[in-house]
Amino acid sequence: MIFDSSKLFFKKKKFNFEKIVIACGAWSNDFLKKKIGIEFPMRPIKGTSMIFEAKKKLFKNNIWFKKIYVAPRHNNQFAVGATEDEKGFEKFVTLDEIFYLSTSMWEYLPKIENFRFLKSISGLRSLLNDGNPVIGSLEKNKKVICAFGHFRHGILLAPITAEIVSNYVFGEKIDRNFFFSPNRFNL
Ligand SMILES: Cc1cc2nc3c(=O)[nH]c(=O)nc-3n(C[C@H](O)[C@H](O)[C@H](O)COP(=O)(O)OP(=O)(O)OC[C@H]3O[C@@H](n4cnc5c(N)ncnc54)[C@H](O)[C@@H]3O)c2cc1C
Repeated sequence: MIFDSSKLFFKKKKFNFEKIVIACGAWSNDFLKKKIGIEFPMRPIKGTSMIFEAKKKLFKNNIWFKKIYVAPRHNNQFAVGATEDEKGFEKFVTLDEIFYLSTSMWEYLPKIENFRFLKSISGLRSLLNDGNPVIGSLEKNKKVICAFGHFRHGILLAPITAEIVSNYVFGEKIDRNFFFSPNRFNL
């Protein structure tokens, strides 16, 4: 990639780029820190959810309870989520997370003994200290375009993020003080 010389080394291989989009989720900060010495105030937030199957379709829409949500999937399956923990870059599912989701389900849903447990999944969300994503090019190197920090809404915000990122890539005029600009951190 880029930087002033438009070069960057990945595992001893050298690539040349005109522009690069950094969209490594929770790992974006590590990458930027190692490669160009820039560090955002952000951290990984672990989330675990569980997938179940019922004998018949239980409901059509997502249902939000105080501690959990239940979201229908295909084939009478549904997801129950999600925990929110600061456990660094740990990605395996732990028993406390299963316990939290199971007891919450017990509290809110009837007859959970009829649900078949299929699997549990954990992932890392990236969280900036102001809670908003970072979308846009770096002031110090406009060829580096950031797109991360979406925390709990990265799926929901993927289409609008892609649109904004493509505007940066293709050089559309964008307000320097754009709300999600990385420049709000004065790096
Ligand atoms: C349990 C759980 C439930 C969620 N539910 C929802 C939901 O219902 N709705 C919603 O909108 N959002 C939800 N989210 C949040 C959503 O998943 C994230 O906001 C979204 O995945 C962020 O997308 P991303 O592409 O920025 O990062 P990621 O999805 O984390 O993708 C980053 C990718 O970059 C890769 N990578 C890392 N380092 C490098 C590198 N050096 N080089 C190349 N690749 C690299 C990683 O392997 C990874 O594949 C949930 C998250 C969790 C954990």
